[in-house]
Amino acid sequence: MPSTPPARSRFAPSPTGRFHIGGARTALYDYLLARQTGGQFILRIEDTDQKRFDPSAERELMDSLRWLGIDWDEGPDIGGPCAPYRQSERKPIYQRYAADLVQRGHAYTCFCSSERLAQMRQEQQKRKQPPRYDGTCRSLATAEAQKRIDAGEPHVVRLRTPRQGKTTAVDLIRGPITVENADLDDYILLKSDGLALYHLAAMVDDREMAITHVLRSSEWLPTFPLHVLIYQAFEWPQPVWVHLSVFLNPSGKGKMSKRHAVDGKGGVASIFPLDMRADGYLPEAVVNWLALMGWSYDDHTELFDRPSLIEKFSLAKLTPSPAAVNYSKLDHFNGLYIRALPDDELARRVAPYFAQAGLKAEADQLRRLAPLIRERIRTLEESIELAGFFFRDDVSPADDLLPGKDLTARQAAQALSRAQALIGASGAMDGALEASLRALADELGLSAGALFGLLRLAVTGQPVSPALLESMAIIGQPTVLQRVAALASRLEAFAA
Ligand code: GLU
Repeated sequence: MPSTPPARSRFAPSPTGRFHIGGARTALYDYLLARQTGGQFILRIEDTDQKRFDPSAERELMDSLRWLGIDWDEGPDIGGPCAPYRQSERKPIYQRYAADLVQRGHAYTCFCSSERLAQMRQEQQKRKQPPRYDGTCRSLATAEAQKRIDAGEPHVVRLRTPRQGKTTAVDLIRGPITVENADLDDYILLKSDGLALYHLAAMVDDREMAITHVLRSSEWLPTFPLHVLIYQAFEWPQPVWVHLSVFLNPSGKGKMSKRHAVDGKGGVASIFPLDMRADGYLPEAVVNWLALMGWSYDDHTELFDRPSLIEKFSLAKLTPSPAAVNYSKLDHFNGLYIRALPDDELARRVAPYFAQAGLKAEADQLRRLAPLIRERIRTLEESIELAGFFFRDDVSPADDLLPGKDLTARQAAQALSRAQALIGASGAMDGALEASLRALADELGLSAGALFGLLRLAVTGQPVSPALLESMAIIGQPTVLQRVAALASRLEAFAA
């Protein structure tokens, strides 16, 4: 039974660029809160800035959330009781609320032209004053304002921010933040094209959608008191506000860019979930990793599957402190989650990567491969480099790998021909074959490592592979023999 009342949380992205891990973490926390309390998680698209709106960004964010298993209960694609869930379709709602604020004296119509505002700003700059609306239209009589509106004069709607007193905005994890009202601006709520700005649209939507918890980026802290004032002007009770911690670059220096991959792991690592999918990360590893970027359960538990995240997540344990994005930790989690996958499941997960690499791998071949690669890959994508040879026709090793360590080409060719005979005579690629190959190495005065290394090059084309005999068993005797013979004759040619 949920111990707290059902929460209605929302993730409200503006689809203007690629979907990054910062957004994914906010959505994850929203989702966990809703699932834990038996509430609802709502996806709302904040596309009021039509100039910057990018439909591919909306697709990417939905695909990313789906991939991460962060499913929403109400949203633009599935509807819900508070539809529409796209702000561009809610224009009349904001206009109605703006008119209500004007009528009650908490907002006013402003007719100042952009030229006048620019000039005002210049003068403020000269006087070293902060840029702020000077209040010219604040005291226009209602009738006068209405006359100018009726005459078609362009106008915006501004909040009538109190000039006296203070506003205290309370963030659940940061405590109260108090500002002098005189330091706040008369912010624009509705632009001259009738479209609402975030300050009005998001507050109205959160209210109309009965949102109980607003989890958002700490970029909104500077305008947080304004948002509290808007709630107060409407006489609405405040939701629970939480401004999440900032992500820093892996170096710990500077805020993570939202637009670019960052330097991590000694190379470039992506901050975009869909790239992480392509790079072979498991969604459950990414979710576990993201959950801990701003939240902790205690000082040592790190592995959380979804049910335990839903059970253990708590807002009270969110931290406001910035944290560096730690890709080694992601690799570590990914390895752990890969090792926990049963054969069938690992086979199913690597299949798309083989297909993507143009390799035709049957499900049951992959299932047999799973135990051979499970311990050796950190990402699903690495299975291609490690095990692609199973499905390639041509596995001839690069010249610079030949003839193998401490061997001449002639020795190597001879050793392979002898090994070929043993493999041909052996019924199975098992311990008995291994023993006879070891005996062969002894007889030829080679180390077992040298002989197996050579065979590995012949059969896999590469110096590193999953366990050799097991790999040979999967490839099957005819192909193994062919590959060994091919390398033997190539080495013969070298020797000649
Ligand atoms: N559309 C805003 C953004 O993407 C949402 C902030 C919020 O969650 O209220 O930053």
